[in-house]
Amino acid sequence: MIVVLTGAPGAGKGTQADLLAAKEGFRKVSTGDALRKHVRMKSPIGQQAEAVMARGELVSDEILFEILREELGLDSGERILLDGYPRNVAQAKTLDSLNETHPVVVAIHLDVDAVELVNRLSGRRVCGNCGATYHVTLTPPMTAGVCDKCGGQLQQRSDDREDSVRTRLSVYESTTKPVLEYYRGKGLYQRVDGLGSTEEVFGKLKGSLSGLKFR
Ligand code: AMP
Repeated sequence: MIVVLTGAPGAGKGTQADLLAAKEGFRKVSTGDALRKHVRMKSPIGQQAEAVMARGELVSDEILFEILREELGLDSGERILLDGYPRNVAQAKTLDSLNETHPVVVAIHLDVDAVELVNRLSGRRVCGNCGATYHVTLTPPMTAGVCDKCGGQLQQRSDDREDSVRTRLSVYESTTKPVLEYYRGKGLYQRVDGLGSTEEVFGKLKGSLSGLKFR
């Protein structure tokens, strides 16, 4: 079964999904991570997606469906936390078509205001080696530019540069926000305030998930 974790870029979905995976027994499926893996491998999908991603636009629904099937696998009764999908209503309907094996039990909207989003995205740095995430002022590494966990070099994601951030936020407003209404209409929508420390937001998310019945 699937918990959809949705929200604007920079809302903290990836960080919270990692925590829920580590502490609450979820398997995180991130379509952004899967696409970045394809880009690193220079696979056919990666070659098609790379420039689109760098501009902050959405990769085609067809490619995303392939990614989704690859990442979800067969139903094994596990709890999957879906980060970054669906990003438009057509994708939400595609996900519904997998309802037999992968029913969506809730769509959680991690809600953060626009000023905070820009601040978070522009200061984000990611380890090129292990993928750990930092922020230049909010959660800096011990040594500037160096990952605390593995000593790898920290980099700015190409889509965290100013132009791409602007595109990503406007794509979110026009294309992804209607997904919230889609889930509201199905009675599956829950809003969680994404402001506060990582631990505070994690507490709120756990609270939101605690009322759910998992298989
Ligand atoms: P993320 O790491 O979730 O912010 O995703 C990074 C980039 O991957 C996005 O800006 C899109 O270009 C692409 N991407 C990830 N998920 C999707 C999706 N569900 N539909 C279309 N493009 C996606």
